[in-house]
Amino acid sequence: MRRGRLIVVSGPSGAGKSTLIREALEAVPELAYSVSATTRRPREGEVDGRDYVFLSREEFEKWIQEGRFLEWAEYSGNLYGTPEQRVDELLRSGQSVILEIELQGARLVRKNRPDAVMVFVRAPSLEETRKRLRGRATEDEETLEARMSTAVQEVAARDEFDREVVNGDREQAREDMMRTMRDIIEGGAEDDKRA
Ligand code: 5GP
Repeated sequence: MRRGRLIVVSGPSGAGKSTLIREALEAVPELAYSVSATTRRPREGEVDGRDYVFLSREEFEKWIQEGRFLEWAEYSGNLYGTPEQRVDELLRSGQSVILEIELQGARLVRKNRPDAVMVFVRAPSLEETRKRLRGRATEDEETLEARMSTAVQEVAARDEFDREVVNGDREQAREDMMRTMRDIIEGGAEDDKRA
């Protein structure tokens, strides 16, 4: 069986990555999602094991020691990481796997897994990002500002990515995301040059 592709989706928080990924997962059966571990507290409605594996800092550090992460990073005061074993099981079974991770983690994956395809998702502007973060209202003002300044740095990194999806018009972005995913799975020429 053909091995699946490792797909990193990154970009500023508030760009709408999660929604686009959810839609792509529903529409493209060859795609699977890698559930990350985090030390952040669950938000309203989040389910342990589905949205994240929620760990204490102590547990997370133990996982690091045990070498269980493909990558991990600290973001806004919390630790986030991709458990490696599940990703490799899925890839071996022929599924392509989406990692929704922030920039430091994305860079580590690019370094350790040169065959990974890097997809950057962003809002049309930083103003739009701020509006969306505010609209989500799960963050207090201080956290929002910290996330905004990270967003500014992240937008500057878009050149490091193979593909970009701009989330302006919802329907258009949904189409773009799906086309991008199908293209990657089918091994578009642009992606194979790096493999
Ligand atoms: P949130 O707290 O909003 O769910 O996620 C914050 C940031 O952490 C987002 O940019 C998200 O993509 C990133 N993130 C989620 N899981 C992982 C992971 O396993 N590794 C890394 N490096 N970042 C992650």
